[in-house]
Amino acid sequence: MSNTVTLSINGLEVTVPAGTTILEAARLLGIEIPVICYHPHLTANGLCRICAVDAGGRVQAAACVTPCANGMKVQTDSESVRRARRTILEMLAATVDLSEAPQILALLAEYGADASRFAGGARREAPIYDDNPFYIRDYNQCVNCWRCVQVCAEDAQYAFALNFEGRGFYTRIATFMGDPMPDTTCVFCGQCVGVCPTGALKPKRQALLEQGLSADEVFAQTRSGRRKKHMVG
Ligand code: SF4
Repeated sequence: MSNTVTLSINGLEVTVPAGTTILEAARLLGIEIPVICYHPHLTANGLCRICAVDAGGRVQAAACVTPCANGMKVQTDSESVRRARRTILEMLAATVDLSEAPQILALLAEYGADASRFAGGARREAPIYDDNPFYIRDYNQCVNCWRCVQVCAEDAQYAFALNFEGRGFYTRIATFMGDPMPDTTCVFCGQCVGVCPTGALKPKRQALLEQGLSADEVFAQTRSGRRKKHMVG
């Protein structure tokens, strides 16, 4: 059995090792497919579907998790693909605070998404968790990309301090039983903050500087390690 597959993407033929995803093959051709939940150093889960492409089937395929197949004819930028991406972005804008997610805001502009299309629908609202000296969690800005969970688990840190809770629309990232972060297995490595594509996870010092505190005040607050219970912003 051949260990390579040949397919075409936007009319360009490419041969790649078996197991290569459509996203990886497209990048080899210099074709950019938008991503939100995907991160090159983390396990891909195909959660946000913004990378969905036409791959010959009745259902669009998430390029980050779909392996290339022989003879596949992929279209990454067809009208139906653009419409699907636009709708995903409009739903995200309707439910989540994207004000500190410049890459997603750029996608909204690129795809002509109307952020007010689903205005009036339920928004995902959550308290702001300021319960440790290192970072703040504002899940009003969370797009449930799962990156923080992955990096906290098998992809890097093996701390397993974070996971999903709830179901459907009310699914959100949380600690076990909602415990404050210092009471969890978190080791404050900061990797979750580093991979978060929005402002949902933010270094405490950055947050305090943005609030107008002086460097001395920021140092005093973050050095003390004083813990506050589930402050609501
Ligand atoms: S907190 Fe950030 S990294 Fe974690 S799921 Fe939400 S948006 Fe993704």
